[in-house]
Amino acid sequence: MNTLHHYVNGQPFAGRSGRYTEGYNPATGEVINRIALASAEDVETAVAAAGAAFAAWSETPALKRARILFNFKALLDRHQDELAALITREHGKVFSDAKGEVTRGIEVVEFACGIPQLLKGQYSDQIGGGIDNWSLRQPLGVVAGITPFNFPMMVPCWMFPVALACGNTFVLKPSERDPSVSLRLAELLKEAGLPDGVFNVVQGDKIAVDALIAHPEVQALSFVGSTPIAEYIYAEGTRRGKRVQALGGAKNHLVVMPDADLDQVTDALMGAAYGSAGERCMAISVAVAVGDVADQVIERLKPRVAALVVKDGMQPDAEMGPLVTAQHRKKVLGYIEDGIAAGATLVADGRELKVPGHDNGFFLGGTLFDHVTPQMNIYREEIFGPVLCVVRVPDFAAAVELINRHEFANGVSCFTSDGGIARAFARQIKVGMVGINVPIPVPMAWHSFGGWKRSLFGDHHAYGEEGVRFYSRYKSVMQRWPDSIDKGAEFTMPVAK
Ligand code: NAD
Repeated sequence: MNTLHHYVNGQPFAGRSGRYTEGYNPATGEVINRIALASAEDVETAVAAAGAAFAAWSETPALKRARILFNFKALLDRHQDELAALITREHGKVFSDAKGEVTRGIEVVEFACGIPQLLKGQYSDQIGGGIDNWSLRQPLGVVAGITPFNFPMMVPCWMFPVALACGNTFVLKPSERDPSVSLRLAELLKEAGLPDGVFNVVQGDKIAVDALIAHPEVQALSFVGSTPIAEYIYAEGTRRGKRVQALGGAKNHLVVMPDADLDQVTDALMGAAYGSAGERCMAISVAVAVGDVADQVIERLKPRVAALVVKDGMQPDAEMGPLVTAQHRKKVLGYIEDGIAAGATLVADGRELKVPGHDNGFFLGGTLFDHVTPQMNIYREEIFGPVLCVVRVPDFAAAVELINRHEFANGVSCFTSDGGIARAFARQIKVGMVGINVPIPVPMAWHSFGGWKRSLFGDHHAYGEEGVRFYSRYKSVMQRWPDSIDKGAEFTMPVAK
């Protein structure tokens, strides 16, 4: 068993809390980690280190900061398999999927390497007689990130590469369920040449998060996780005058129009509903079947769900691994029972799945419900497991109305071969990230990620140019020199002359 600690000021830091939690290998159910849980005092140590590093780091030219990120990107490329294996061991997702996650994280690092261009201000010469006006973006100071279990590499990478590139120093509080990757990232950043204290990791739970929220030196909080915690962090952080971007839960729909290619739809639904055991904030958990297409969709999906290859994610042919913890598995099982009790038709039942040799693993098979209605809990709430619900609607307008009524609005997709429908869908749907014949439309690193409504609290989406804006402060400077100043006081509002 590994004992995992914090990482502060360029080295491992044991902390003084004396509190620990256990971390599991979800495929075997074994306890593999003993993870330190920070006290407020431990958080104070990390924030102090980040605070002390800020002055020099923020004065380091953007190009030099970018060069360290270039080194970091090269190291990530070299360690891609090692990082992916760490993810699979603690999260359970299949190795090839974990590698995809690592790649998506690296792409944000690549984006952040362009920071000299991204931070370039604007300049207006001669806005009045002898006066110039320009703008620049400056770092905020110490910023913190609090991340979920489901993407232990990619989601931290939505935050810290951009934050560091902008000149901030960072404290990351990863999920206590899969914390090893964050420590490895800290070591690789140091190897890349990042000065000590610029990037720090505290392991922990609510105590650590509350200490970060309350710390006066922490200027901004980025959070990704479930909606109740996102709301809490947004309210508590903004109440203290901090910048907060808090990304929450999701219930993502995929609309199947009658003119869609149903083989393509089936492939898309299989990957997007059951990939990563449905533990993705962009997973499709509702198929909205328009017109009379539902029976054909169900007919195609049923044998495919039953044939899903569910096993230890390190096995090369695995399509789906276990859920992250026994507790989470129990929660998803509860939703399946709730769906049956509410009257939905259980087409494929994953409850009895057994993975040979892995009796204690947290596995659950793929599950498919038909005739789900908007009143049911399995429709309204985020399940975050391998459960797909089919809702039947009469036409396109009803599909749009259904989706626009949902409280979550992270991602959405529409499968159609009609350009007019596709265009109308993209314009009318009240959701932050839209896919047209793309089931999981996670924006590329130079665009920005975020939902609407109760899927995101705050004004900025993550990474891309929105991320640069979040992690920097805009400043406008006006300048003139004594030879262009007219004599005498001006009592009127200054205007261009
Ligand atoms: P979670 O909300 O339980 O935990 C997220 C983080 O908050 C963790 O670091 C955790 O330690 C911390 N935390 C937990 N309880 C807390 C409390 N009471 N007070 C303060 N902090 C607390 O989420 P999770 O189970 O790790 O991740 C799954 C959730 O994350 C799902 O709801 C999923 O939709 C969401 N998610 C959203 C996005 C997005 O981009 N919108 C991306 C990934 C995951």
